[in-house]
Amino acid sequence: VTHWHSPKFHAYFPTANSYPAIVADMLSGAIACIGFTWIASPACTELEVAMMDWLGKMLDLPSDFLASSGGKGGGVIQGTASESTLVALLGAKAKKLQEVKAEHPEWDEHTVIGKLVGYCSDQAHSSVERAGLLGGIKLRSVKSENNRLRGDALEKAIEKDLADGLIPFYAVVTLGTTNSCAFDRLDECGVVGNKHNVWIHVDAAYAGSAFICPEYRHYMKGMERADSFNFNPHKWMLVNFDCSAMWLKDPSWVVNAFNVDPLYLKHDMQGSAPDYRHWQIPLGRRFRALKLWFVLRLYGVENLQAHIRRHCNFAKQFGDLCVADSRFELAAEVNMGLVCFRLKGNNERNEALLKRINGRGNIHMVPAKINDVYFLR
Ligand code: PLP
Repeated sequence: VTHWHSPKFHAYFPTANSYPAIVADMLSGAIACIGFTWIASPACTELEVAMMDWLGKMLDLPSDFLASSGGKGGGVIQGTASESTLVALLGAKAKKLQEVKAEHPEWDEHTVIGKLVGYCSDQAHSSVERAGLLGGIKLRSVKSENNRLRGDALEKAIEKDLADGLIPFYAVVTLGTTNSCAFDRLDECGVVGNKHNVWIHVDAAYAGSAFICPEYRHYMKGMERADSFNFNPHKWMLVNFDCSAMWLKDPSWVVNAFNVDPLYLKHDMQGSAPDYRHWQIPLGRRFRALKLWFVLRLYGVENLQAHIRRHCNFAKQFGDLCVADSRFELAAEVNMGLVCFRLKGNNERNEALLKRINGRGNIHMVPAKINDVYFLR
């Protein structure tokens, strides 16, 4: 086993672990229900609705996303951020198809799908490109500025595609990129997305947990313009894998896109609570809300905030050590718990350094490269 919870494990992004989440997963395993519809397990569905509301309030998400606001919005627990990106893309695709077909009834579906184009920054996670492949649409990688996607670059890309007769429909804004934990300018990209009727999906897989701390919420500025938002409590919020929290302002696009209704899945109470099978790709689903409930009850908001702040302070301390040592330099601003650093000089020196560190079998790290500059992260 590679010990992800060893204090010497510094590869990738962290994955969460805590005893309340482990106990909740054991209970989920023991109950062993499959909550694909409300009737298939009312508690599984209703606890998920309640937990996604608690969590949304902890992040101070716009109320449009919350079921308790009484509007259309609501949350769902997906397995991973990759699934959330794909689900949002498929919802956006269904929405645009319906809009375009209403305007051009003479166009067939293949013609419209061939014209659809989505956007993300050149720093977006590989799962975004993959969602484009799985969703069967073109996805444009837009050049970032200082590792962040800016509104004017997104706007230029959209306008060029419109001029070429294409149909922009979806854009992923990353808050906390994998390479360097950079934050796309949601405040700018949201305005552009709304102007061009392009679905904005926010991928905050790692950094989203930090939004439980008010001092980091400035990165969320513009969230009211997004259509869907996702982060992974299973990365940084003490909830064991898998627990990827996703909110949709109008889930009906996703629900309608995925709605196949055989008789054996229908029930008398349809419409009174979400049937989560329509919000996700698989039919079956585990009782994942339990681990969110146990973690939130056992630790409480203040302890979770302290956990995040402690990690951010470790990163600051390590970043300061790098700056104080004349052999090293930072490859990017220190954001959240991530430090991107390198030996001054060429890439080969840094590749050799990482090889030596990992070769010793004591500390484990992974590298990244931005603009051909190789660094350790
Ligand atoms: N998005 C970002 C920004 C990530 O950093 C990651 C993983 O590190 C992902 C998406 C993929 O996450 P998951 O494994 O939950 O699909």
